[in-house]
Amino acid sequence: MSESHQDVLIVGASAAGLSTAEALRRGGHRGRLTLLDAEERAPYDRPPLSKQLLSGQWEPSKVALRTNEALDALGAEWVLGERAEGLETAARSVRTSSGRILTADAIVVATGVVPRRFPSSEGLEGAHVLRSLDDALHLQGRLRPGNRLVVIGNGVLGSEIACTAVTLGVDVTLVGRAVAPMSGTLGGFASYLLAAKHEAAGVRLLGESRVASVSRGWTAIHVLLDSGEVLPADDVVIAIGSDPATDWLDHSGLDLNDGIVCDAFCRAASGIWAVGDVARWEHPGLGSLRLENRTNAAEQAIAVAADILGSGEPYSPIPYFWTDQFGVRIQVHGVIPANARLRITDGDPSSGRFVAVALDAVDNRPVGVLGWAMPKQTRVRRAELESVMAPTP
Ligand SMILES: Cc1cc2nc3c(=O)[nH]c(=O)nc-3n(C[C@H](O)[C@H](O)[C@H](O)COP(=O)(O)OP(=O)(O)OC[C@H]3O[C@@H](n4cnc5c(N)ncnc54)[C@H](O)[C@@H]3O)c2cc1C
Repeated sequence: MSESHQDVLIVGASAAGLSTAEALRRGGHRGRLTLLDAEERAPYDRPPLSKQLLSGQWEPSKVALRTNEALDALGAEWVLGERAEGLETAARSVRTSSGRILTADAIVVATGVVPRRFPSSEGLEGAHVLRSLDDALHLQGRLRPGNRLVVIGNGVLGSEIACTAVTLGVDVTLVGRAVAPMSGTLGGFASYLLAAKHEAAGVRLLGESRVASVSRGWTAIHVLLDSGEVLPADDVVIAIGSDPATDWLDHSGLDLNDGIVCDAFCRAASGIWAVGDVARWEHPGLGSLRLENRTNAAEQAIAVAADILGSGEPYSPIPYFWTDQFGVRIQVHGVIPANARLRITDGDPSSGRFVAVALDAVDNRPVGVLGWAMPKQTRVRRAELESVMAPTP
């Protein structure tokens, strides 16, 4: 790639924003590089927040994404502790919470997502969400043996929190709309295996359940279910999904529709890109897509940096995520539709280690690979997806 001297402003200096900055420098960007973030902290990684950090295995310093020396080596300007509050799209300028105006030739939006909350839980002491390091440290302080914790939302985050908490001796109830933990992303078979792990560890599972309200009683928080049952709790974690952090872009003229709508090159407008959890782009093989996972944050950053530097290509990854629960690494490449047929290719579910290829219910095409405690073989089987999920020209 040739040298580039344009000014680049990256809004959101976490996994996706930092990776974009690094890829730009690696690719020959010599111009001014500014990273703006609402948090004061140096960039840190989020996956350990619900796992090693929440369990107390890791000190907070271990979640840092880079050393201070590596951050310095980027030769970037850091504007931390200031929120972006508005974007002038045509002028490519961002107004920050201190009133500063930052202007650049290229702007990359990497503001991630914000957790959803229940209106009835706003401001309620003991009601938590988990997105930031502060959230994780606060929740960690509450996970004492015998405490009653209700986790609302049985997707990946809620399941991980329930797993970590029960391992610490907390009395955990996991309640959610899905029939079993993570059934929306793992499909039926693996989510039932996961449910068995949770139950064996002592988690009370309430699947296919809706929460009507969360309120404070005299001695406990009350989680009221649609069924009329009330779950008393010392603490509640709300893990019912997230919304793209785009409120500050409301008047920007950018197309916002569950994320910043971009083309296949992750371009939202002339000179403006989006990357990571906040970006909804046109995947050449899979259509309009927004992914909330760590691998995508890093890979999409490389694609965006290449495009800014003039050698972009349509971004067409095979979606991938992992979760770690009860000592098992569960991995999904591609997607596992609820009605997919599973073909076990390696290992054996009864031994606690296996890989399965998910086949489309209609045409038997491989659409996903599910790995259960077999990372190497899972990676090998991923190749089966490459030919069938390849982007259409
Ligand atoms: C607890 C937890 C566990 C996870 N576990 C896994 C896992 O096991 N596997 C997996 O694949 N993924 C996991 N993820 C998801 C993964 O961490 C995210 O996909 C990844 O962090 C996305 O990176 P990002 O940079 O796009 O967004 P973020 O990491 O959310 O960063 C966005 C940044 O933008 C900043 N920001 C937001 N709004 C503004 C504004 N207006 N002005 C300035 N700055 C702003 C924020 O302060 C933040 O630093 C987990 C996430 C969480 C929260």
